[in-house]
Amino acid sequence: MTDAGITIIGGGVVGLALAEEVSRNHENVFLIERHPTFGQETSSRSSEVIHAGIYYTKGSLKARLCIEGKNLLYDYCQKYDVPFKRCGKLIVATSEEEISVIEGILCTARENGVDDMTVLEKDQIAEMEPNIFALKALFSPSTGIIDSHSLMKQYETNAINNGCQLVYGSEVTAISKIGEGYLVTLLDADSRSYSFTSRIVINSAGLASDKVAEMIGISDDNLKILFCKGEYFRVNPPKNKLINRLIYPVPHHNMEGIGIHVTIDMGGGVKLGPDVKYLESNVYDYKLTPSKQEAFWLSARKFLPFLEFDDIIPEMAGIRPKIQKPGEPLRDYYIMEESGKGHPGFINLIGMESPALTSSISIAKYVNNLIQIPL
Ligand SMILES: Cc1cc2nc3c(=O)[nH]c(=O)nc-3n(C[C@H](O)[C@H](O)[C@H](O)COP(=O)(O)OP(=O)(O)OC[C@H]3O[C@@H](n4cnc5c(N)ncnc54)[C@H](O)[C@@H]3O)c2cc1C
Repeated sequence: MTDAGITIIGGGVVGLALAEEVSRNHENVFLIERHPTFGQETSSRSSEVIHAGIYYTKGSLKARLCIEGKNLLYDYCQKYDVPFKRCGKLIVATSEEEISVIEGILCTARENGVDDMTVLEKDQIAEMEPNIFALKALFSPSTGIIDSHSLMKQYETNAINNGCQLVYGSEVTAISKIGEGYLVTLLDADSRSYSFTSRIVINSAGLASDKVAEMIGISDDNLKILFCKGEYFRVNPPKNKLINRLIYPVPHHNMEGIGIHVTIDMGGGVKLGPDVKYLESNVYDYKLTPSKQEAFWLSARKFLPFLEFDDIIPEMAGIRPKIQKPGEPLRDYYIMEESGKGHPGFINLIGMESPALTSSISIAKYVNNLIQIPL
């Protein structure tokens, strides 16, 4: 008999969704988070967009779980009063070459089962967004925005109500295989070391998920996390009032990022970004780079002609936990029960980049189905 049935490592949006889902279905569930509270890393540094599932490779987990997840998320927000808005998104073509790109995006979206998108001509765009410039656009009505902090709070509340124990301020420092599961060692908030046993361990450690996998000896070059920074600039009032929905340019060909786009948030704010920069080493570098202002401005000005250089200021940065190396084609999530590598009951979630906020509930359900071992 182990001390814990299931231990989830990581209290970001994915770990919390897992905590709610798994504790609804199982007893004796623990979530361990190294910070004093939830969502202190990537989950509080995102665009807070509910993605429609437009761009991802057909049949990939990213595509499947996004489409399933957005619908589950909208229902969840309605049920629990989590603030959200189904504001829609325009993907804008600002040159003749980009018009053919948006036609390609429409095909990918339809192949993925996103069948609510329409192509808009100039006059239709002007009716919806009179202040932007676009020759043609794709409209995605099922894209939206969400208050991600409220979402995480709700996952936390429901997990606690299901009996899940949330242990904040404790960092997992070692994991080893024992007969019936795993011995997990923590360093608690007072720097005391403490070990307990757990039948199942779920690694949802975001930017450190490769390091947690290495603790049990899973060390694979294909699963190395590469820190990929994205910075944002905020549009100062009153210009933030000049757009009503999300506006994206056409994406780069290998989806390292989807271009400097414009997002609105639940508080009425408007931001530009994020850009894409692989860091030379995996450091938690959230520093802002004011010298990028011109590049952001020039990039956004193509479709926001009203924007002056001084209308934007640096706002925040987030770091993507990428397993896709620079220049490589888009990689899928790595979500795996590791019996095949000799670690039954150890479940890894690695490379959980966008759209994992959108897909958090469907990811949790998918992982819950991987828990086959009788507890
Ligand atoms: C710039 C940017 C914009 C994005 N925009 C969107 C968007 O608009 N829509 C969308 O769907 N997705 C978006 N994403 C993606 C989304 O934010 C992430 O996929 C999601 O937040 C990942 O959640 P997580 O729980 O896996 O990771 P995290 O939030 O990183 O949580 C992992 C947790 O594990 C903890 N941890 C790590 N190691 C240990 C340890 N040893 N012991 C204990 N705890 C540990 C960390 O402290 C952390 O809290 C964006 C991401 C970025 C970077």
